[in-house]
Amino acid sequence: MIKKKLAIVGNGMGTCRLLDELVLREGTRRYEITVFGEERGGAYNRILLSRVLGGDSPDSIVTKTPEWYDRHGIRLIHTAKVTRLDTVRKSVLTEDGQSRRYDVVVLATGSQPLAPPIDGMFGSDGDLRSGVFVYRTIADCLRMRERARPREGAVVIGGGLLGLEAAKVLADRGLHVTVVQVAATLMNTQLDALGGEMLARQIAHHGIFVRTGKTVEGLYGDEANERVSGVFLDDGATLPADMVVLACGVRPRVEVAKASGLPVNKGVVVNDTLATEVPGVYAFGECAEHDGKTYGVVAPVWEQATVLAEVLTGKQRQARYRGSKLYTRLKVAGVDVASMGSLEPELDSDQVVQVIEERRNAYRKLIIRDGRLMGAMLVGNTAATATLVQMFDRGDPMPEEPLDILCSKPPSSDPAECVVCTCNKVTAAALRQAIAAGASSVDALSVATKAGTGCGSCKGELAQLVTLYAKKTEPLPLAVAN
Ligand SMILES: Cc1cc2nc3c(=O)[nH]c(=O)nc-3n(C[C@H](O)[C@H](O)[C@H](O)COP(=O)(O)OP(=O)(O)OC[C@H]3O[C@@H](n4cnc5c(N)ncnc54)[C@H](O)[C@@H]3O)c2cc1C
Repeated sequence: MIKKKLAIVGNGMGTCRLLDELVLREGTRRYEITVFGEERGGAYNRILLSRVLGGDSPDSIVTKTPEWYDRHGIRLIHTAKVTRLDTVRKSVLTEDGQSRRYDVVVLATGSQPLAPPIDGMFGSDGDLRSGVFVYRTIADCLRMRERARPREGAVVIGGGLLGLEAAKVLADRGLHVTVVQVAATLMNTQLDALGGEMLARQIAHHGIFVRTGKTVEGLYGDEANERVSGVFLDDGATLPADMVVLACGVRPRVEVAKASGLPVNKGVVVNDTLATEVPGVYAFGECAEHDGKTYGVVAPVWEQATVLAEVLTGKQRQARYRGSKLYTRLKVAGVDVASMGSLEPELDSDQVVQVIEERRNAYRKLIIRDGRLMGAMLVGNTAATATLVQMFDRGDPMPEEPLDILCSKPPSSDPAECVVCTCNKVTAAALRQAIAAGASSVDALSVATKAGTGCGSCKGELAQLVTLYAKKTEPLPLAVAN
């Protein structure tokens, strides 16, 4: 069979999963695959960047080495930025003047950090001023590491997931860190005001200063070498800072799609098969817009990758992507936060259940409509997360007494069906099946089920399951600790 040429633009987390799914479905027999990646080397787990910022080797988060691509006959062209597709001649054009033919092309260009137009943000060369950083790639982390010195000041602009994560790592490296957040509370897209307030108290316990409801109006610094030395706030205050980290959100990277004449809205517009309007051109991941929505976490990107692999290999022609339910978890050591769905009731009939533990700065809230979970947030005590994610994801009925879930009583539904790895939606039952089939370590369990390959926050639970069940030969009991 003559192979078709499949080109993939971008070599991030989405592409990494798409390649796995294609290999699994023998896609390399049907396609000659070429991956273009702007970053150096093989794909890596972007979610674990905080480790690199904290001092770990970049290699420790690499998920595909160059040998992996070779072994599967996939051509990786790294450090190559694609400028546009010629959709008439069907070729991919790169910044360094290369042109390669395709039959099918997939855009997986991800997102880019937003750099708000703040006075003094850019140097005379038009790039970010020296000492100002974004937090998206290994290269960003290595640059930040080089600049971060104990006892120096850092200002993080943005009090969302990424801002808090960066702030904690820099504080752990001994810097004096202040988070400046324009909204009235932290993580305001995932938590209500009380949740954000409780979170701010917990963050403060880690030695990080928090200024909410404040805007950074300008950056100041040494005129001679342009290096930043502080920020001005809108209330007239100044904060000295040897480094400033921008964590003000992301936007889909659509420049290749735009230059190629593809329909673009917030993201590259795709249908349920992840196809764009132009035949043979697909897009998925954070750069794609499906049903008016773009995503900024990995679970939907991986769900899209599976559907796209089915569509491209023709293994399941009916495969369709219908959107994802969102779940987020802050992975800052010692600060437990999980959130899903609505933050507030929307109908008069919606039921709200709240547990507030003032002295422990712990807060839990459920929003229930017609006996189903519409939203949940957990700050300071996330023990019920697995059960809630399962109920939210599948629309399972809530127990008569919802407080039972928050108070860690066994849920009425089967605990084996609880989702342990939320990035990959792997249940306790699936994990136990894999253990029974011979997976006797956390790594083996990850290979068999993909659990633990996302944010990794479930690895403790995986280890617990392995310890509990790995050597047992008798039938496994149903209850699972989580
Ligand atoms: C610090 C950090 C922490 C995160 N933590 C979490 C978390 O805890 N949980 C969670 O679910 N998600 C988290 N995320 C989000 C998660 O990383 C993304 O959802 C995921 O990486 C999206 O995958 P993607 O393939 O769409 O984009 P990306 O992984 O960004 O990959 C896109 C790739 O395309 C390349 N590219 C772009 N344009 C071109 C071009 N023109 N030519 C060639 N290559 C190009 C980019 O350089 C990049 O390598 C985090 C992100 C960051 C930055």
